[in-house]
Amino acid sequence: MSESLNSVRMRAERQGLHVSGAERLVPFSDVEEVALSMVTRALHHPRGPVTKISLQVDLISAATVQFGQLPDLFNNQVTCWQHGRQLASELLLSCKVAPAAIERTMATLAKGAALNNTSMRGAMLVDAESGVRLEEDHVRGVRASRMDLTDEARTELRALLAANQLDNQHVVEALILAAKVVSAPQVIAELCWSDDPDYVAGYVASQRTGYQRISLLKPSGEERGGRAFFVCCARNQLNSLVEWLEKEPMLINKIGRIHPPKKWRGK
Ligand code: AMP
Repeated sequence: MSESLNSVRMRAERQGLHVSGAERLVPFSDVEEVALSMVTRALHHPRGPVTKISLQVDLISAATVQFGQLPDLFNNQVTCWQHGRQLASELLLSCKVAPAAIERTMATLAKGAALNNTSMRGAMLVDAESGVRLEEDHVRGVRASRMDLTDEARTELRALLAANQLDNQHVVEALILAAKVVSAPQVIAELCWSDDPDYVAGYVASQRTGYQRISLLKPSGEERGGRAFFVCCARNQLNSLVEWLEKEPMLINKIGRIHPPKKWRGK
């Protein structure tokens, strides 16, 4: 790749509480439009008025960009969020996350994983065996950053998602984020449900399972959401993992398959 890219990042908050964030990796010619759309999005966020919007643009050298691939998407339909969490637990178990680690992490996300029982700005980093939280800052967490789709992959993905009634910003952004996160060999699975009160779906993603969308993972109106990256790695590898997740640019040029909806009725 010869052309440099720009990392464009937005973060919006209301009196110190995280409201919204967005990440793109775009050529210089798109920076203005993308930055404007991020600011517009922050100003009209369903979680209400914001008191601060931070926008950061960094030049990324073309030589440092890695290429990646989206995971396949599986579309699980459940009838209530409790079943959704049961399914999420089963999927995480299949990735070899310990039962106690799953239970503890879900309870933490449900009560709000930041210190004041609100949503974090980034993700929890969780030891997949012990369930211990490893991120240094329990409010900021770890922010996966500097990842995006190529224009061609975005067009292809959106057409495929539209054919499956899934073409929305949440799915597109979550697929991109999950693609980068689960490509780290130390991350054995990711769990996410949104902090947007109107968006009740979530997912479990891993190399093993692909991106398992779950139609309900929280009650409607709930503002506490979050992400957990379950890791299996030595403590001395953590800094380099976080550095890679937050700093190393990844451009995704290959999309995955979108599987048809499948009902899951609970156990
Ligand atoms: P969202 O899917 O945007 O509603 O975000 C849900 C939760 O995921 C947020 O409350 C954050 O805790 C976390 N999160 C959002 N963006 C990121 C990111 N780039 N990296 C890690 N965690 C994130």
